[in-house]
Amino acid sequence: MKINFIMDDEYLNHDTGKSHPENIERYLIVKSLIEEKYSQHNFIKPREVSLEELYSIHQTEYVHNIINSIPDKNFFYYDPDTIGSSTSLKSYLLAAGGSILAFEEIIRMNYLKKNSSFFCAHRPPGHHAEASKAMGFGVFNNVAVSAANAIKNPNINNILIIDFDVHHGNGTQHSFENNPNIVYASSHQFPFYPGSGDIAEKGCGNIYNCPLEAGVNSKEFRYLFEKHIISPINLDFDLIYFSAGFDAHYKDPLASINLIDEDFYWVTDIVLNKFGGQTPVISVLEGGYDKEGLKNGLDEHLKALYEYNKNE
Ligand SMILES: [Zn+2]
Repeated sequence: MKINFIMDDEYLNHDTGKSHPENIERYLIVKSLIEEKYSQHNFIKPREVSLEELYSIHQTEYVHNIINSIPDKNFFYYDPDTIGSSTSLKSYLLAAGGSILAFEEIIRMNYLKKNSSFFCAHRPPGHHAEASKAMGFGVFNNVAVSAANAIKNPNINNILIIDFDVHHGNGTQHSFENNPNIVYASSHQFPFYPGSGDIAEKGCGNIYNCPLEAGVNSKEFRYLFEKHIISPINLDFDLIYFSAGFDAHYKDPLASINLIDEDFYWVTDIVLNKFGGQTPVISVLEGGYDKEGLKNGLDEHLKALYEYNKNE
């Protein structure tokens, strides 16, 4: 079965300036890889998220402030890292809505209890966005908004979110730390931005943090990921999300973890081997700021997603 890609050139209109690490070129890199290697797969256009859907994670006043604060021209700073421009709003709405659409497509195509893979080539990333705070380049938490809406479906009892971006997904963890039906597991450089992600943060027993010291290499990463995420989680899931960031790659300029290309195949494969069974997967792009690190890491991640559902 083919991978279902949710993407749209609208993401080229979320302009953050050339010198910002989370810039338009990231989408072009991802798009060129997908066109080069996956042009025969399925392509779906994202839809805009509704206000009601956003309210499942974000506070009403915050959502209104975001929508009303879009500048007529130039850039707008939510914080020193998180930038919007006059043409950014549609990307915010499509990135969150497209992540929900992936789940709607799973229902529409009858993919529950089946291996199927969706990849959302969305920007900006979302895992740092809190209920009422834009941060870490993101405004709405794409994965959290999608998972919060998916868990409302009576056929979805348990969701697993695996976040291998090099930064801890503070927004996602905070969204679900009191929800026993959603497990959030993250490997990330620690101590590091955004500050959260200590191994002692366990939510209601549903949070699994795998902190990585600066300088961790491929071998150490694999050992720690198995120890803190793969081995201790022993549940069946109806839906798996990846917060797929490629900034733990050794070439990435924003962090100091030394993963090689193949680690992104390994991490995807080991998660799907243990938890995949007959389970749909939605992977949503988070970070990755080196051109080659993003392209090669994503290539390996997509290989594993494709192999996962190839035999369905
Ligand atoms: Zn990141």
